[in-house]
Amino acid sequence: MKQKGTKSTSKERCCSFCGRPQSQVDMLFQGMIPEALLCNHCVDMGYESLHGITTKSTAKQTKQAMVAKPLYKPSEIKEFLDRYVVGQDAAKRYISVAVYNHYKRLQNSVTNSEEGVELDKSNMILVGPTGTGKTLIARTIARLLDVPFAIVDATALTQAGYVGEDVEGILSRLYQAADYNKERTEKGIIFIDEIDKIARKGDNPSITRDVSGEGVQQALLKILEGSIVNVPPQGGRKHPEQQFVQIDTRNILFMCGGAFDGIERRIAERLNTRAIGYGRINTESIDRDNLLRYVLPQDIKSYGLIPELVGRLPVLTHMEPLTRETLRNILTEPKNAIIRQYQHLFAMDAVELSFDDEVLDYIVDKALQFKLGARGLRSICETIMMDVMFDTPTSKDKKVVITLDYAKSKMEQSAISEMQKAV
Ligand code: ADP
Repeated sequence: MKQKGTKSTSKERCCSFCGRPQSQVDMLFQGMIPEALLCNHCVDMGYESLHGITTKSTAKQTKQAMVAKPLYKPSEIKEFLDRYVVGQDAAKRYISVAVYNHYKRLQNSVTNSEEGVELDKSNMILVGPTGTGKTLIARTIARLLDVPFAIVDATALTQAGYVGEDVEGILSRLYQAADYNKERTEKGIIFIDEIDKIARKGDNPSITRDVSGEGVQQALLKILEGSIVNVPPQGGRKHPEQQFVQIDTRNILFMCGGAFDGIERRIAERLNTRAIGYGRINTESIDRDNLLRYVLPQDIKSYGLIPELVGRLPVLTHMEPLTRETLRNILTEPKNAIIRQYQHLFAMDAVELSFDDEVLDYIVDKALQFKLGARGLRSICETIMMDVMFDTPTSKDKKVVITLDYAKSKMEQSAISEMQKAV
């Protein structure tokens, strides 16, 4: 890899138009003929002369426009989240404030870059069982803000040099989601799922495979705290010839999610210690069924995330377990609720689809029975709907009603045994 600013050597590739050596440009594009090379400066110049504008000033205007956009107030952000995410009020409130502060911070850095108070980043960590809406919240926020959004799985990450994905690959994903636009990338949101799986080995009884946890945490720290990172645009190591692009991570918002299986035990221990020691608390009032609501950074640390990383994730909130009522609402309430999606699909064939109320209760019961959470709702619905989705497009019926008997028969006939295996 060659860094910008190094001296040109006689062997170095140069732009065929302006002659700039590779080391002095951000990108060098190669044509069909291997010797035909074009640098980013010449691309900009070509664009300017074609469209009669200067890309530099356009870039500046874009930046100002992004920052000049009216900020969504926390209550507006929460209202938007309410349309897509059922329940999870505490998490939604925390996140709304954090996102509001994050974008205030962006404004602050433009209007107040020379002097004054520097605001810290509001990177967040969401703790809660799988399938409770962590990714959904992050995705919905990105949709509201119209910023690029990338999801990465922490379990795939390894330290540089090991088999797996380098941490820089996270930024490649965001860069791709931003259509290779550096400016947009630098204001995007990255959701790192399963952050608990890179906990330090030893401290965490639930871990079965160490993906060099601490090394990955150290590498993550670098990009979380804000630095200029050399990012391979195509990601991974499959394209060693690609030019790196430098991404500044200072303003990228990181949201991390994790189930932190077994963390309740640590929380309980801490609460019990406090119940008898200094700063006593009233153990009677503790909600023992939902200990996650008392989660503190020290619990995350004791689970095996390094203190520096925990320090870089200042907004910590928890997800509530999904109750029967929440699951029932998830089926029908959100803007793109599963049932609405099926109805929409059928409407595209001019067929009116409806479900008897008991069917919805039955779907929820099955999701609870199989402990599949909200994710299970979808697979159960698919099992019930498969045959009718196969037949309806060629049938003359313009009205389809899913009854309890029909739903039960489909579940009993087909994937039920598979589902039970998944429990
Ligand atoms: P997590 O990231 O917590 O594992 P996801 O956000 O990926 O869970 O949720 C999985 C699916 O379940 C989502 O696509 C969504 O359809 C549904 N879901 C989960 N929780 C909720 C919720 N609170 N409101 C609406 N849908 C939800």
